[in-house]
Amino acid sequence: MARSFISGITAALLALCLAAPALAQQAPPAQRPQIATTKVDGTENVYIFRNGAHQAMFVVTDAGVIATDPVAYGRPTGGQAYLDEIRKVTDKPIKYVIYSHHHFDHIAGGQAFKDAGAKFVAHQRAKARLAALKDPHTVLPDEVVSDKGRVIKLGGTTLELKYLGLNHSDSTLVMRLPKEKLLFIVDTLPVGQVPGRGMIDFHPIESEAFIKKVLALDWERLIPGHPGPGDRLGTKKDVQDQLEFLQDASAEMKTMAQAGKCWDTAEKEFKLPKYESWPGYANNLPFVARRYCGLWGRGT
Ligand SMILES: [Zn+2]
Repeated sequence: MARSFISGITAALLALCLAAPALAQQAPPAQRPQIATTKVDGTENVYIFRNGAHQAMFVVTDAGVIATDPVAYGRPTGGQAYLDEIRKVTDKPIKYVIYSHHHFDHIAGGQAFKDAGAKFVAHQRAKARLAALKDPHTVLPDEVVSDKGRVIKLGGTTLELKYLGLNHSDSTLVMRLPKEKLLFIVDTLPVGQVPGRGMIDFHPIESEAFIKKVLALDWERLIPGHPGPGDRLGTKKDVQDQLEFLQDASAEMKTMAQAGKCWDTAEKEFKLPKYESWPGYANNLPFVARRYCGLWGRGT
């Protein structure tokens, strides 16, 4: 009995050893699907739709759906794919599409929602800019929100649209679900990583005031417009950390700029060793350097 047990184990180990190289070859890293829809933990009706490296929030209510950014720039079928994902969850009508800000990489591709009868809402400066540019792939807003903001109530859900000043853009709407204590803010506040292309048209001084206003709001979790490490949502600590990162970056570049090092020398020498372990450090730091050179080296 004992011998057959041991020989059984030996045989199993032997099989495992023989199989190991094959297993190693057969197990490529898990492919991340292009599209994913996930319900936000702890909520009954709040979802995140992700297409590649962009994501949007949508809320399902008894009276219809509030969707946000179509996230279909350069993806002709992306808006329809987003609508199809919502249709897997509910057959309620799509009442609204809210634009987070005016950048095409987040808001292009909403025609399928327009055809489904949705009303498009954006900050007034987003509409002004979109009207001037006439991008053939981007639906113009039907309604605009002024700097005073707006509250949308639908089927028992309240969604606040707030304008808290210049930040990553001049048209960003901070979306807050007060009951769920959730925020959806796109591009200004990456979660757990060094900011990258979002720095290109970033307003550095005003953003610090913006971030402090965000911290003063009542919320627990932040849905970013680009997935954070491990797809986790942001916390107030993440937002505080991001503010400190920007302040440290600004102080470092201020010294270099006033020593006459902007642009080329400063961009080469700019380092923030405290943040070396943050995802995106190597690739994204040049965007941070360039933006703060613009501020301290040029005055912009
Ligand atoms: Zn943007």
